Amino acid sequence: MTSVARRPVPARDAGSEAYPGQRQPAAPARAGASHGPRARARAVPSKKEGGGASTRVVLAVIALGAAAVIALWWHSTPDVSGLGGWLTGAGEVLGLLAGYGVVVLVALMARLPPLERGIGTDQLARWHAMGGRYVVCVVWAHALLIVWGYAVEAHTSVTGETAALLTQYPDVLMATVGGFLLLGVGLISMRAARRRVRYETWYYLHLYTYLAIALAFSHQFADGAAFVNNLAARFWWSAMYLTVAVLIIWYRFVAPLRSFARHGFHVIGVRQEGPGIVSVYIGGSRLDELDAEPGQFFRWRFLTRSLWWSSHPYSLSAAPGKDLLRITVKDLGDHSQALARLQPGTRVIAEGPYGAFTATGSGRGVVLLAGGVGITPLRAMFATLPGPVTLIYRASSTEDVVFADELDAIAAARGATVHYVIGSRAELGGDPLSPRVLRSLAPAIDEQDVYVCGPDGMASAAITALRAAGVPKRSIHRESFEF
Ligand SMILES: Cc1cc2nc3c(=O)[nH]c(=O)nc-3n(C[C@H](O)[C@H](O)[C@H](O)COP(=O)(O)OP(=O)(O)OC[C@H]3O[C@@H](n4cnc5c(N)ncnc54)[C@H](O)[C@@H]3O)c2cc1C
Repeated sequence: MTSVARRPVPARDAGSEAYPGQRQPAAPARAGASHGPRARARAVPSKKEGGGASTRVVLAVIALGAAAVIALWWHSTPDVSGLGGWLTGAGEVLGLLAGYGVVVLVALMARLPPLERGIGTDQLARWHAMGGRYVVCVVWAHALLIVWGYAVEAHTSVTGETAALLTQYPDVLMATVGGFLLLGVGLISMRAARRRVRYETWYYLHLYTYLAIALAFSHQFADGAAFVNNLAARFWWSAMYLTVAVLIIWYRFVAPLRSFARHGFHVIGVRQEGPGIVSVYIGGSRLDELDAEPGQFFRWRFLTRSLWWSSHPYSLSAAPGKDLLRITVKDLGDHSQALARLQPGTRVIAEGPYGAFTATGSGRGVVLLAGGVGITPLRAMFATLPGPVTLIYRASSTEDVVFADELDAIAAARGATVHYVIGSRAELGGDPLSPRVLRSLAPAIDEQDVYVCGPDGMASAAITALRAAGVPKRSIHRESFEF
C-alpha cells in the first residue's frame, strides 16, 4: 500500500488556486484572498447539524398534508355501505392521496433552497424515486377500485363500466391518458430500464410527468365527490397545485437566469489535471453573495452550441472565491468530455449552490475519504474545514491522483494529514479500506465526522467498514455523484 502521511510544515496555503492564465498581479492576490486565508478564517456555518431536524420537519409536514387529505375525504363521505360503497370510497380516498402525492413529488424536485441545503439533493431524489413508485401504484389502485365499485353498484361488468367512463366522461379519459403516462415514466425509471437508456432520454421522458398531472387535474374537480360541492376544498387544492407550479418556475427557470444576469458567469480557462480530468475555472462578480460552501455543487449549463441544452451537476473543487469558482471533471461521457474544449469567455448558467454535504461544525475533527474523482468536493473542504483533518485518498493508480501538489501544500500549511492509498486490491494485498486500515490511518476516526465521496461501490464498502470501525451512522456524511 502506498500511504504517504504529510505532517505540519509551514508553507504557502495551496488553497490559493488562481487559474494559471489569469493576469499575474491580480490572480494570486485575488485567489489568495478568496480561497485561502479568508476561507480558513471563516467559521463554517453549520447547516448539516440541523439536517436530521429538517428531515423530520419535512416528513411531518408531508404526513400532516396526507392526514388533511384523508380528513377531506371523511368530510365529503357521509355514508359508506355495501361492497360497492366500500370499493368506491377506497378508490376516492386513494385518488385524493394520489392527487396530493404528485404535488409532493414535484415539490421535492423544485430545488427549493431550504430543502436542498437542509436535506440534500441526493436524499430528496431518493424520496422522489421511492414516493414515485408508491404514487403510480396508488393512481392505478384508485382507478381500478373506482371502476370496480361503480360496476358493483350499477350491477354491470367492470369492462362495461370502464367503457362507459371513458366514452361519457372526457375528463376521465384525459386522466386515464395521464395515468398511462405516469406508468410509462415509472417503468423507465426502474433501475433495470434506466441503466439501458441515456440519462438525457430518461430525463426528457420524465418531463411527461407534468403533462400527466395537467391531464389528470380537471377530473378531480369534475368528478371527485370531495370537490363537486365544496368551493373551499377546490380553492385550497388549486392553491396547492399553483404554489408548487410557481415554485418550479421560479427556482428552476427564473432564479438561474437572474443569477446569470447578476453574476455574469463565464469560463476563464481550462486546465488538464490528469488523463481525462480537467479543471474548469469560472469567473463572475459578487460570487460571495451565492453563499456557496465547500462540498456543495452547482448545475452547470455551458452556453455553447452543443452544450446549452443540458445542465450537469459538478461539485466545487476549490473553496468558492469572490470572483472565481473551480470545478474538476472526469470525462465519462459526452458532456464531461466536451468540457476540455471550452473556450475562455464561454457564458455559463450556474444553478445553485445545492447540497447538504457541508461542514457540521461539530468541532470533533474530520476524516475525509475520497475515491477517484470523488476527491473534488473533499478537496474544497480539505482547505477550509476547521479543526484537525485527515484526508484518505483512494485511487487505483498514480495517474488517477489529481491535486497531489495542492493537497500536500494544504496539509503542510494547515497541519493536516493526507494518506494516499494507491493500487489495486491485488497489488495492495487485501482490502485497502478495511476497518483495521481505517483505524490505523485515522486513530480517532470513531469520534470524528467522516465525509465520503467516491464511486458508489467504493463508497458503500467504505461506509460498511466505517461502521465496523465504530463510527456512528450520524457521523458519516456521503455525497453521491448519482441521483
Ligand atoms: C451532486 C453531484 C456532484 C457531482 N460532481 C462531480 C464532479 O465534481 N466531478 C465529476 O467529474 N463528476 C461529478 N458528478 C458526476 C457528473 O455529473 C456526471 O459524470 C456527468 O454529468 C456525466 O455526464 P456525461 O454526459 O459526460 O456522461 P453520460 O454518459 O451522459 O452520463 C454518465 C452518468 O452520469 C449521470 N448523469 C449524466 N447526466 C446527468 C445530469 N444532467 N444530471 C445528473 N446526473 C447525470 C448519470 O448517472 C449517467 O448514467 C457529480 C454528480 C452529482 C450528482
